[in-house]
Amino acid sequence: MSGSARIIVVGGGVAGLTVALALQEWASVTVIERESQLGYHASGRSAALFSESYGNALIRALSLASREALATGGYFEHRRGALHFGEAADVERVDALAREAQALLPGIRRLTASETAEMVPVIDIAATCGGVYEPDAMDIDTGKVVQSCASAFRTNGGAISLNEEVLRIERHGEGLRVATTSGAYDADFVVNAAGAWADTIAERAGLARIGLAPKRRTAFIFDAPGYDTRHWPLVVDIRERFYFKPDAGRLIGSLADETDSPPCDAWPEDIDVATAVDRIEQATKLRIHRPHTPWAGLRTFSPDRSPVVGADPRLPGLFWLAGQGGYGFQVSFALARIASALLRDNKVPDDIAALGVARAALAPDRFIDPQTGEFPT
Ligand SMILES: Cc1cc2nc3c(=O)[nH]c(=O)nc-3n(C[C@H](O)[C@H](O)[C@H](O)COP(=O)(O)OP(=O)(O)OC[C@H]3O[C@@H](n4cnc5c(N)ncnc54)[C@H](O)[C@@H]3O)c2cc1C
Repeated sequence: MSGSARIIVVGGGVAGLTVALALQEWASVTVIERESQLGYHASGRSAALFSESYGNALIRALSLASREALATGGYFEHRRGALHFGEAADVERVDALAREAQALLPGIRRLTASETAEMVPVIDIAATCGGVYEPDAMDIDTGKVVQSCASAFRTNGGAISLNEEVLRIERHGEGLRVATTSGAYDADFVVNAAGAWADTIAERAGLARIGLAPKRRTAFIFDAPGYDTRHWPLVVDIRERFYFKPDAGRLIGSLADETDSPPCDAWPEDIDVATAVDRIEQATKLRIHRPHTPWAGLRTFSPDRSPVVGADPRLPGLFWLAGQGGYGFQVSFALARIASALLRDNKVPDDIAALGVARAALAPDRFIDPQTGEFPT
């Protein structure tokens, strides 16, 4: 059901599509995406994991709040599990993570060295102090999230315009005018869900950036001949220097890198793939003869590594939905509900607020410098 408010959503990634679907319940919504396909940037390049122990406290609450929507939407593909394992000298670090994670999720287990090596036989029992295992971490079917949200949105009358770039946003009467490569739209609200380009959108609205930092992460595919990897969990070293994860009979490897980058069509560097291969080989019995299909994507973080969701106090009608970092799929359904409520001047939905999610912790104005009253430039 479309209502009378006119909303433009900038960005056809998971953030833009989930919010478009939520907003459609009370508004007429158009999604504008610069690329020729949906989910081309970060949303097409993720490792597709849902982990309730990942990220800061706010991210963990938002993930918990998104779990039901991911489950009922049929977006969980496999109960993958996630294992953080340490080298022999990492006992304290592993114990500390186990204590912290168990306080949050009682199902999390501290594994001994032999349990760790039994679960993932490429980890040498003599070289590990064991690990921390989260059994309920899930594989997300990210392609299905993007395509199903887009299809439901279109079926309900929503418009998605591809190959169209937002160039300028300015005040127009009581609302906003959005100039694009194809024309212009008048809107009551514009939702900035432009991922790595969210600060660019602010500049195109004549505003200072709020300080989002896109960071490149590199991944590739490799084989592990002789091992049945299908039931391995995602395996990450306790210092987050690499991870690997089963994917369609093969493994995805990653350097778990966070290299600063301008917003762009991110491309993997050979050195990052080689470094990841070296680290995985040093830490395990895996021998990676031919890493292939490398890719990179941008994970975009706000200065406090929490998402930015809320009205921009500098330009009435402009609303942020950005800074999802490395958690966009696991938090998007909760963020979409929050955005929809805030855009209608409602409070954060009760069930999400009960998990400790407060409007102020997401609002863009948390970055305003109290001395100057301005966003830092
Ligand atoms: C290697 C990697 C691994 C990851 N692993 C996970 C994981 O396991 N679990 C998880 O939950 N998350 C993971 N993430 C993070 C997740 O992918 C992101 O948080 C999420 O995809 C961000 O979605 P988005 O819609 O904000 O951004 P995007 O998908 O980048 O979408 C933004 C869109 O805005 C469009 N746009 C920009 N400017 C304009 C303009 N001016 N006009 C029109 N359109 C514009 C862009 O073309 C783009 O398509 C990972 C990310 C990477 C890179």
